[in-house]
Amino acid sequence: MTFLCAPITVESQQQAMAEALAARAAGADLVEYRVDGFITEDDDTDLASSISDVVNIVADSPLPCIVTCRIAAEGGAYEGDDGVLARLLEALISADHPPQYIDVELATIERSTEIRSLAARLAEVEAPRLIVSMHDFNQRPADLTRRQERVAAVKGAAVLKLAFRARSLRDNLELFEILQTRDIPTIALGMGEFGVMSRVLAPKFGAFLTFAALRSEAATAPGQPTIGELTTTYQFRSINRKTQVFGVIGWPVSQSMSPAIHNAGFASIEFNGVYLPLPIPPEWEHFKATLGALIDDPRLDFRGASVTIPHKEHLVRFAREHAEDGWRLDSLAEAAGAANTIVRDDENWFVVNTDAPAIAQCLQTRLSKLRGKRIAIIGAGGVARAAAAGLVAEGCEVKLFNRTPERAQRIADDLCDFAQSHGAAIVAHPMKDIQDCGAAVIINATPLGMTGGPAPLESPFDLSTLTQLPRECVVFETVYNPIETPLLKQARDRGYQTIDGVEMFVRQAALQFSAWTGQTPSSNLFDRIVRERLVAAP
Ligand code: NAP
Repeated sequence: MTFLCAPITVESQQQAMAEALAARAAGADLVEYRVDGFITEDDDTDLASSISDVVNIVADSPLPCIVTCRIAAEGGAYEGDDGVLARLLEALISADHPPQYIDVELATIERSTEIRSLAARLAEVEAPRLIVSMHDFNQRPADLTRRQERVAAVKGAAVLKLAFRARSLRDNLELFEILQTRDIPTIALGMGEFGVMSRVLAPKFGAFLTFAALRSEAATAPGQPTIGELTTTYQFRSINRKTQVFGVIGWPVSQSMSPAIHNAGFASIEFNGVYLPLPIPPEWEHFKATLGALIDDPRLDFRGASVTIPHKEHLVRFAREHAEDGWRLDSLAEAAGAANTIVRDDENWFVVNTDAPAIAQCLQTRLSKLRGKRIAIIGAGGVARAAAAGLVAEGCEVKLFNRTPERAQRIADDLCDFAQSHGAAIVAHPMKDIQDCGAAVIINATPLGMTGGPAPLESPFDLSTLTQLPRECVVFETVYNPIETPLLKQARDRGYQTIDGVEMFVRQAALQFSAWTGQTPSSNLFDRIVRERLVAAP
């Protein structure tokens, strides 16, 4: 079993107890009392009193515990001398109720003979046991392998802890390899946003523990999740060696709602999978190298991913370049030149565009038939491209409008043959011609109206000035935050049918989920989670 350990930065006995009780209630198995800012060295009386407080905290601890006095050089607050540290350790070792573990850095043990001999004493006792740790908040240490060998030489070492700032998702794979090849219980964690994977997948690779904070402000290392995120979103207690790994690849991905919905979906059908944020920097080289490493690692069980901005086109390129290795593109991804889903089936990898059919599905529930319908799409980015491909595949007459007309023209050119083969048509028009497009459906595929976007209060056009719109016109917004954009408000006020961006998001996610699990998510589950989150968002 991999323990879930809540770090507690000790400020007072009372506060430490309250937080330890809260950690137990939240589901932690262990607490780590971080006493580095608590040990007072001002004079001998203060020091003796703070050490005695730590001993009392341990004695009263509602959960088994680790005591750590982290030195400043390894990210802690302790800047005192090794003699004081030795006094603290001596007091903990000889206490009537010693902690289960004490954590001492390899660097401290190697530097101080006194601490080294205290550490050696721990080889003979049941508690405390010694965690020998090493941290690098800036990078992967160049001498990582040699440092591990040095830990093996520490007398009394019961657990190895190593934590460094992950530079890319690939560093997690090295951490997993270390976990699987060490002969003592090991904690191997990547810090920062690239390292979240190592924290969540700790049980899959048999780590001794993973850390999770009571609240996000209480995290003691960058990238550390909260107990709630770990146990609720990521279903930490259900992760085991056979858990399949999925995720959302993009840049940035930390705000993505996809982990919340897909993990909830997996839990609802008792599917042994976990879905993670998988940040990959924007450049093609990063995408290619990282995706290549994820799919190549046999231990990871990487089975699929959602792919979002800015990698949707990179994914198509990757699939084309790996056709001989069993990579296949579906016809919509091929036509759109962009895809948002990776699905693994045995040794084959399928690249699919679920945005395109999701957009068509949204409209099919509103219109009696799509074939022959005139659809205006505003925008010429990835979503406009997917919408155009999905709708010409249904036989629609697509009109494209965009601020930069050349980009709209490029989509029309790229999809021209595909449209013809489906008995459809696609033409780019100057933006001003939107006035009399006479479309049965108008789709906003620009970020106008989006919270945090270039113009949150604007619409791509003023609906009141559009002539020749049929009364049953459908106004389709792809922006989903806010749920009601200025365009949707205008459309509802004028009595048009509307489709919001949440519906599209949920439908494309449901298609991904089915491709990975062979099942459909329970009715309304994704929609409810997304709408609740958007309403709750500040
Ligand atoms: P994109 O590739 O960046 O394309 C954005 C398009 O909007 C471009 O054609 C751009 O015009 C145009 N645009 C940007 N700012 C504009 C402005 N101030 N005035 C007029 N036009 C402007 O983005 P995307 O990936 O296609 O995404 C578009 C929107 O779809 C996003 O904002 C997002 O909210 C939404 N979306 C929804 C879902 C969903 O599932 N519901 C999924 C993904 C995205 P230029 O060509 O002139 O630059």
